[in-house]
Amino acid sequence: METFKLLGWFFRKYWKRYLFGCASLVLISVMMLIPPYLIGILVDQIRTGELTASTLWLFIGVMLGMGIFLYALRYGWMTLLFGGSLRLEKMLRQRFFGHMERMSPSFYHRNRSGDLMAVSTNDIPAIEATAGFGVLTLVDSLCMTILSLSMMIFAVDWKLTLAALLPMPFLAIATAYYGKLLHDRYFLAQEAFGTLNDHVQQSISGVRVLRSFVQEEKDVEAFEQVSEHTLQRNVSVAKIDALFDPTVSIIINFSFLIALGFGSFLVISSQISLGDLIAFQLYLGLLIWPMFAFGYLVNVLQRGRASLKRLYTILEEEPEVKDDGEHNLVQKVEAGSIEMRQLTFTYPNAETPALKQVSFHLDKGETLGIVGRTGSGKSTLCRLLLHQYPLGNERVYFSGLAIEQISLSALREKIAYVPQEHLLFSRTIRENVAFGKENATEEEIEKALLQAEMLKDVQQFTDGLETMIGEKGVMLSGGQKQRISIARALIANAEILILDDSLSAVDARTEEKIIQHLRKERAGKTTIITAHRLSAVVRAHHILVLEEGTVVEGGTHEELMEQNGWYADQYRRQQMEEQVIQAGGGNEG
Ligand code: ATP
Ligand code: MG
Repeated sequence: METFKLLGWFFRKYWKRYLFGCASLVLISVMMLIPPYLIGILVDQIRTGELTASTLWLFIGVMLGMGIFLYALRYGWMTLLFGGSLRLEKMLRQRFFGHMERMSPSFYHRNRSGDLMAVSTNDIPAIEATAGFGVLTLVDSLCMTILSLSMMIFAVDWKLTLAALLPMPFLAIATAYYGKLLHDRYFLAQEAFGTLNDHVQQSISGVRVLRSFVQEEKDVEAFEQVSEHTLQRNVSVAKIDALFDPTVSIIINFSFLIALGFGSFLVISSQISLGDLIAFQLYLGLLIWPMFAFGYLVNVLQRGRASLKRLYTILEEEPEVKDDGEHNLVQKVEAGSIEMRQLTFTYPNAETPALKQVSFHLDKGETLGIVGRTGSGKSTLCRLLLHQYPLGNERVYFSGLAIEQISLSALREKIAYVPQEHLLFSRTIRENVAFGKENATEEEIEKALLQAEMLKDVQQFTDGLETMIGEKGVMLSGGQKQRISIARALIANAEILILDDSLSAVDARTEEKIIQHLRKERAGKTTIITAHRLSAVVRAHHILVLEEGTVVEGGTHEELMEQNGWYADQYRRQQMEEQVIQAGGGNEG
């Protein structure tokens, strides 16, 4: 019942549909009682020789009429109830998807995508079954049972009814026991399915790495294990599943046996008529379906409950950073300065802070360069500017407004972001670039590609802009992927552009050209660049050098060179390397 309670909002919304559906079911149950009653009378009339042709015709007429009426009613409830439950499935999936879109990155660290897919493909249909088949069996079996029992008691004999029902408590005990087992095992089976899903997904997306490390066989073996595990868990569910029907059958057969034995005794001792006994057996026959249905009901409800639990656990997770309705969040921010004050930040699942006491101030239109060893916190700083994680009170300011006071959509509208792990969609190049701006024109797309130094490459593809780039851009080189990501960000022409290590896969000359375009196109707008190659930031207004999350040096290129620390050291080394490479290239040419 807890399952139905959790779905209460849905039943309330579609109460008319459910009311009419259930009413049809009740009506059908009532009508199902008529034939046994008539047959009982008919048998007694045959026995006593009272039956006339006109009574027989009337009897046949009533049965035929009922048949047609039942046909219409059954169609009615099916479309009402199952139509309703399919709507529930759609609504749940919609909610689930909307939830995915709102969640912050750490949600995806906690939940594997295979599990999330499993919820959408397996659990939501299980809940649908509860709202459709579950409601049907509940109403139908209850109704049928009550009505048949009343007829047995009032139209035939209460002692006979009582005797025939003696085996029923065993059925109740057995199904309750199976139900509990089923719930637990089904939960585990769904979990195993999630793992299986995750494995498939990872193997498919990582197939190139798998092949290059010649790990296909190992992966197939590992998959074998995972699928064996899933099989075992599903078999353990099926074993319980298989117990329901035989249990119901055996108990119903006992009922029939008792009814026949005790009923015959009652007929012989003239307490009931032969017609009564036959009608009684037919009523008992009507109880067969509700008994099975009761078994199915327990089954469907337990699955539904396990699935609802899995779904609601996910739906109840709140995004860590969210626009809550209580505060009046600023919906539009003016272009202006960016400031970070003494920000210390630790990832939700980490122990040591990724950033410590980081401060900087950037005026509108300035460029900030962030450099430092790998793992020093550059990407973290970028993510925090996007408010992907909660920051602790008022440490980051845009145009003098604390980031907490700005709505997420207003903030992210201001910022174009090229993440380090560039993500492209498995569509055409055109669509990937145009993603940055609604209704982008042909010229705008080409201009963005030109500024990202990608236009020439695209023109060389046979399909040009219409080239399909495959899942996550598998058809492109690393540098091409980066430049398409940059074009996507540039076309948005946002007030703030964040490039997180976005030039790492292009050569020095291409990098130089892209930087020149950026300087020209983005004059007056704010740009933040993180890089390993220091040439990408030499012209920045401010450069921060991070080390293990702390700012260890800061200033312009010239100031940093004078300070003669890590930056100056690194810069000279990279210059030298560059010269060596160029000299090498010259010799070859
Ligand atoms: P790189 O130059 O390699 O891109 P980075 O300077 O961008 O490095 P970050 O990615 O910001 O470095 O990582 C800074 C620190 O935070 C690292 O120690 C890293 O292990 C840790 N870190 C990064 N992402 C997470 C995360 N999601 N959860 C926990 N710790 C993280
Ligand atoms: Mg990084």
